[in-house]
Amino acid sequence: MTDPITFRPHHFLCALGFEGKGYSDSFTANMAQIVDRLRAPDGDDVLIEVTVQADHICAPCPHRMGQSCAKAAKIAVLDQRHATALGVQDGTRLTWGDAKARVRARVAPGDLGSLCAGCTWLSLGLCEAALARLHDTGA
Ligand code: SF4
Repeated sequence: MTDPITFRPHHFLCALGFEGKGYSDSFTANMAQIVDRLRAPDGDDVLIEVTVQADHICAPCPHRMGQSCAKAAKIAVLDQRHATALGVQDGTRLTWGDAKARVRARVAPGDLGSLCAGCTWLSLGLCEAALARLHDTGA
């Protein structure tokens, strides 16, 4: 069996909304590769394990410091809000399809303003657009 992809709690929504923007070229290339797997025809079957440390998306991030982050305090707050919203914790395993179902059931359009407060990418509106799309079409 393939090893699961690791995600910090807030990265479920980030992966849903990702449109090619990131903190550096290598960060963006790595995230694009992960998101491409999730958006492939069999992407809903991809297994994800929740971690509260640096994950597969963080791996090439210029802010990563070992298993932590130069912005650890801010990220911990984001993770806590998203973990509560999605009902996940360190070690939770779920497929991408299950994760999207949880987002749809538990995160309403318009919620990201409070859930993601402080995030650099929030004002672009890409993540809210993706969330609205998920509610409208399931994809
Ligand atoms: S606004 Fe930021 S934290 Fe929220 S889903 Fe988008 S990229 Fe992730």
